[in-house]
Amino acid sequence: MELKTLIDENKLNQRIKELADEINNDFTCDEPVIAICILKGAVMFYAELMKHLKMPVKMEFVRLSSYGNSKTSSGKVSALNISLPPLENQKVLVVEDIVDTGLTLNFLLNYIKEKGQAKEVKLVTLFDKKCARKYNVHPDYCAFDVDNKFIVGFGLDNQEFYRNIPYIGYIE
Ligand code: 5GP
Repeated sequence: MELKTLIDENKLNQRIKELADEINNDFTCDEPVIAICILKGAVMFYAELMKHLKMPVKMEFVRLSSYGNSKTSSGKVSALNISLPPLENQKVLVVEDIVDTGLTLNFLLNYIKEKGQAKEVKLVTLFDKKCARKYNVHPDYCAFDVDNKFIVGFGLDNQEFYRNIPYIGYIE
């Protein structure tokens, strides 16, 4: 299958640095943040973003899936691993690869709410596919808007392949 480049590695990393600068400006530099990575898709974005954050960060990982092996949302979230430390009175930064219908984030935000009153919960996503939104979820920080293409690379997969590719591509 031929992959067309949508965003190259330089542009991705440059934009992620800009996003980290925005986050650094909004958060105080001495207050700890629990940064939650939604696996597997956000893995590359998360790793790159974390390098540039200036405040003390605790790194946490959850594994959720709503796409399975398909190119569209199943409409159901599988929580494959969702163990998190207590979030009561903590600042939380949720890191997602792409917000599509918003189902996955909606699920995680409800879960976080059930775990007690966090001090603040912010959402950062690499991509926002606004045209597909079905749930009332609004990222606080977004690197790129994307239209209704199925994109891969930089953590994003097609049937588990392409995650290791260092740029964003799409399959024609
Ligand atoms: P949502 O729950 O918002 O409908 O979907 C979010 C998840 O669907 C993302 O974390 C990602 O795993 C997957 N997804 C949505 N759009 C795309 C896409 O264009 N490409 C890939 N590879 N995954 C996508």
